[in-house]
Amino acid sequence: MALQLRISGLHHEVLKQHLLPADGREAVAVALCGRYNSGGNKILMVHDLTLIPHNECYTREWDLLCWPTERIIPYFERISKTDLAILKIHSHPGGYEKFSNVDDKSDHEFFDSVFGWTTNNEPHVSAVMLPEGKIFGRFFFNDLHHEPIDNVSIVGDIIHHYKKKNSHIIDEFAMRTIQAFGEKTYQALKSMTVGVVGCSGTGSPLIEQLVRLGIGKIVLIDPDTVEFKNLNRILHTTIESAKNHAPKVDVIAKAIKSIGLGTEVIPFQTNLYDSIDSLQSLIACDAVFGCMDSVDGRHLLNQLCSFYLIPYFDLGVKLEADGNGGVEKICATVHYIQPGKSSLLTRGQYTMEDVRAAGQYRRNPGEYENLRKEAYIKNVNVNNPAVISVNMQIASHAINEFLNRIHPYKCDHPSQYAAGTIDITEGYIVNVAESDFETDPYLRKKIGRGDIVPFIEMPELS
Ligand SMILES: [Zn+2]
Repeated sequence: MALQLRISGLHHEVLKQHLLPADGREAVAVALCGRYNSGGNKILMVHDLTLIPHNECYTREWDLLCWPTERIIPYFERISKTDLAILKIHSHPGGYEKFSNVDDKSDHEFFDSVFGWTTNNEPHVSAVMLPEGKIFGRFFFNDLHHEPIDNVSIVGDIIHHYKKKNSHIIDEFAMRTIQAFGEKTYQALKSMTVGVVGCSGTGSPLIEQLVRLGIGKIVLIDPDTVEFKNLNRILHTTIESAKNHAPKVDVIAKAIKSIGLGTEVIPFQTNLYDSIDSLQSLIACDAVFGCMDSVDGRHLLNQLCSFYLIPYFDLGVKLEADGNGGVEKICATVHYIQPGKSSLLTRGQYTMEDVRAAGQYRRNPGEYENLRKEAYIKNVNVNNPAVISVNMQIASHAINEFLNRIHPYKCDHPSQYAAGTIDITEGYIVNVAESDFETDPYLRKKIGRGDIVPFIEMPELS
C-alpha cells in the first residue's frame, strides 16, 4: 500500500508562514482533506485549511505545543457527514526529523477523538513541517496504529516530493542528464509516474524525452489508431502500423519497451470521457501532460488536476495556413496549471460555449454538423495542419518547463513561466507570469476535494 499526502503550493505557502514564525516556536494548523482510494493507493489532499492562531495556544515552546480544538469543530461536523479526512500539522522549528514522545501522546488523543466523529474507517493524517518547508508524516488508522507516509508532494510553482526513501541505482544512460540537472532530479524522475493524454504530434516526442530522461512509469491515453496521414509526425509509427490500424498507444508502448530503459507503461486506447479507469490512472500520476486539440479534453484535465492536486502541462499548437500552401502564423504554447491559481478557462484558452460545442461534436458528430450549419453551435477545428518540427519544438519546451519545476534552473523564479508561447513566424518566446492571470474562483474552492459524486462535479463522467 502506498500512502501519499498532496498539498497545493498555495496552501503550502500559507502553512509555511504560519508554522515557521520568526519567534522560532512551534505552531499548528488543521486541514480538511479530500481522498483518493484506488488499488493500493491512499492519497489525502489538502482541501481547506484552518490555522490555529499563535495567541490561542495554551503553550508554545520550541519543542512543545498545547492548543484548543474549538476552532475546528466545524471540521469534525463535516467529517461526520462526508468522507473527508483530517490533517493535523505542526512544526519542528528546531529541525527534529521524527515524531517525539509528546507527539505520540497528543496524536493518539487527537485521532481517538477524530475517529469518534467519523462514520467510516478510513485513515487520517498527522504531519510535521521542518525549517525550509519540508514535510513528513504518518497516517492514523481506525485502530489508532500509524504508518509513515511514503510521499508528500507539494504542487506549486515548484513540484516537491518528500519521500520516505529515494535510492534508485544510477543507470549509465543517465550520467549526462545528471551532469546537467543533478542526481536528485534523476532520482525524482525515476520515481515519478507521469500521464500523457494524446499520443500524436506533440505527445509522441514528449513521451520520447520523458523515457530517455528515465521517467519511472508512464500512463498513455489516446483513442486513435495510426493512419497514413500520421506518418509525417508520430515517432515509431511505420507504414506497417498504418496498414494494420495499430492503436497509437500500442505502437508507442512497444517502442518504450524496446528502448529498454526500464520505464513501465500503462496504455489506454480510449477517449478520456469514455473511461473512468483511465482517469483513475491519471489521478495516481505525479504530473499530467495534455497533448490534444480538443477543448473538452483540456477542460476535463484542468478540472481533474484541481480536484486531485496534480501539476498539469497543457500543450497547444496553432498553425494557420493561408490556403495556398503557405503559412500565416505558427504559434505554440505550453501552459503550466497548478491547483488554486488560474485555469485554462480564466487564461482565455476557451469559453464554456467552446466546451459545449466540443462535447456535442464528440458525442454525436452528425448532429453537431447539422447544428453547425444552422449556426446553432460554434465551429470545432478537427483537422488542423500539423508539422513535426513545430511539434517537437513545443514538446521540448514543455519538458524543459517540467524540469525547471523539479529543479529550477532558469534565470527567473518558475512563477514567471506560467505560460510560454513560441512564436515561430516572428521568432521569439513570450512568457507570462502566474500573477498576470486571474484565479479561477470555481476551481479555487474545489482544490483537493478528491473523490466526490458526481465525479469531479461532471455528471457526464459518473
Ligand atoms: Zn512535535
